Amino acid sequence: MNKHSIIRQLRESKRLPSPSRVTLEVIRLSQSETTSMADITKVIETDPALAGELLKYANSSLLGNSPPVVSIHRAATRLGLNNVVNLALGFSLLSRNQAGNCRTFDYPRFWSRSLAQAVAARSIAEAQGKHDPDELFVCGLLSHIGELALASVYPVEYGKILEREMTPEQLESCENEAFGFSHNDVSAELLLDWGFPDDYAQAVGLQKQYGQSSFPDHPAAELGGLLHLACQIADICLLKLPNTGTLLSVEALARKFAITTENFSIFFDRVVLRWQEFSEMFHIPSQHCLPYEQIKVLGTAVAGEEPDPAVDSLKILVADDDPMILLNLERILAAPNRTILIAADGEEALRIAIEQLPQMIITDWKMPVLDGLDLCKFLRRTSLTQHIFFIMLTGCEDDDALVQAFDAGVDDYVVKPFTPRVLEARIRSGERLIRYQKTITRDKELIQRYATSLAAANSKLLTMAMTDALTGLPNRRSMMTRMGEAIAEAKRFNSQLSCIMIDVDHFKTVNDNYGHDSGDLVLKQIAEIFVGKTRGYDMVSRTGGEEFLVISSRTDLDSARQLAENLRSAVENHGFTLPGGQVIRLTISLGVAAWRAAIADGNMLIKSADQALYLAKVNGRNRVETNAC
Ligand code: GH3
Ligand code: MG
Ligand code: MG
Repeated sequence: MNKHSIIRQLRESKRLPSPSRVTLEVIRLSQSETTSMADITKVIETDPALAGELLKYANSSLLGNSPPVVSIHRAATRLGLNNVVNLALGFSLLSRNQAGNCRTFDYPRFWSRSLAQAVAARSIAEAQGKHDPDELFVCGLLSHIGELALASVYPVEYGKILEREMTPEQLESCENEAFGFSHNDVSAELLLDWGFPDDYAQAVGLQKQYGQSSFPDHPAAELGGLLHLACQIADICLLKLPNTGTLLSVEALARKFAITTENFSIFFDRVVLRWQEFSEMFHIPSQHCLPYEQIKVLGTAVAGEEPDPAVDSLKILVADDDPMILLNLERILAAPNRTILIAADGEEALRIAIEQLPQMIITDWKMPVLDGLDLCKFLRRTSLTQHIFFIMLTGCEDDDALVQAFDAGVDDYVVKPFTPRVLEARIRSGERLIRYQKTITRDKELIQRYATSLAAANSKLLTMAMTDALTGLPNRRSMMTRMGEAIAEAKRFNSQLSCIMIDVDHFKTVNDNYGHDSGDLVLKQIAEIFVGKTRGYDMVSRTGGEEFLVISSRTDLDSARQLAENLRSAVENHGFTLPGGQVIRLTISLGVAAWRAAIADGNMLIKSADQALYLAKVNGRNRVETNAC
């Protein structure tokens, strides 16, 4: 269909989502060359709600930390005339279309997703530094406006299409089939109609095709890619848990827009924060979204969880001893997403049902040997077949017979002779039920998986929170926990407990002379020496830059001093090899303290070791001192 006639046809319906009167006036004014910023702001000020929204945007964290603006004129100066017009359009559509007549169209979710895409598109534009971020914000916000248009103009027809769960590609082909164009075509045409530049409108129309071989070589293609990336990020925000493959491809696309893989998780988390801030501002429900690192861990768990196309196909077993009826049924039921199995009597139906496990059985009641009623009773008894949706074909609608059929476990019935329309309607109702069941089962499985992987993710995060990233040793927080336990144990059993505080001598010179990387390597090697020289029940931790602490349970001051001496000499005698190949020598100073009844808690014991360490430093370094007091 000619693209312009799309809009004409939609407009004739008078139900097309349209901006407010004030916004239309703003758009009209902006198209005249003699219009000044003052003219535009005067018109905007006549709509306090719109003015308020523009001010909120201009003062939001999206625009950085500039001083707040309180007048529309100031906001317009900050944003530029074009952006004010576009934002006015976006916000007026947003506030006027939060509900509608299309039963299956989720209006709040639509706007939530559009806001997420808007914020993502703006943030990508900022990172890439090539396009105007505010323009991209509006483009993102309106890039699926065609869906809203179809829901507004064709609430019933589009509502029916949306009843089924579909991939975006399936949705597009259904829309083309039903209306002769897709929502992407409509989005692009509407943007053109509202005066957006050609490139932006075309990018909106192209975004879905990005990455396909048929993707045109077009100046708007790059913008299409940007919107495609924003759309995928929005999907992740709305808890569409993608598998690792999808996440990797999103990260790869992000790299094309100057967002490195290392920075992607920070980028994503910031988009989520901004999206939530915006949702609150515009009273759109937003969802909780996990930090990207956790989504990644969960993504590994859902690998292979992509929807199986076979799940949507329906296996129907038809049983009748009348070959003509069978033939007729087979013809009526034929559809691309259905597999029809045929049985000429009840016994054959039972065998096929057990072997093939259809989701639905349509059976004649009266059949030789095993009739429809017994077939149903039998199948209801086994767990494998008891959930099959059962439609009985019956010659009479006698009350007693129907009660008998439902008592046997039949789900529905069709009276013979039946019309194809009625049979089809009954099957659709059965299909709906089967889909719900499937969704529930799938959700249950997914929840179980998520719970398991969430537990794994949490334990991984906990380990990360307790471990020093450079050396792999327990960090200060972990050491403090262990110290608390060790003190409690020493108090309870009146046992010995010592600790050794260690600081590398003149470590700054390593950094100064050989660079920070060399310093890091030295710290790792020192950690290895300490681990190698201590016993399993000593805890070696890195408590700060070039400081370490050893907690030595069941060890008195003398033994701890001996251990400290061993550590000191091991470091003194070690040649540290640097990345450049040079070998350098280093020393450490150590302070030892032992627990006694007067020491109330871990902090006091550590402080005592620290005093001894201070002594070791002032007494010349490369030595062990103890704190006996
Ligand atoms: P002193 O003998 O008095 O302890 O002298 P120092 O140079 O070891 O002590 P100072 O506290 O002046 O310097 C410690 C240095 O350790 C400074 C800091 O740059 C460095 N540092 C801290 N953490 C790290 C790290 O993770 N890696 C590297 N390479 N250096 C670090
Ligand atoms: Mg130090
Ligand atoms: Mg030092």
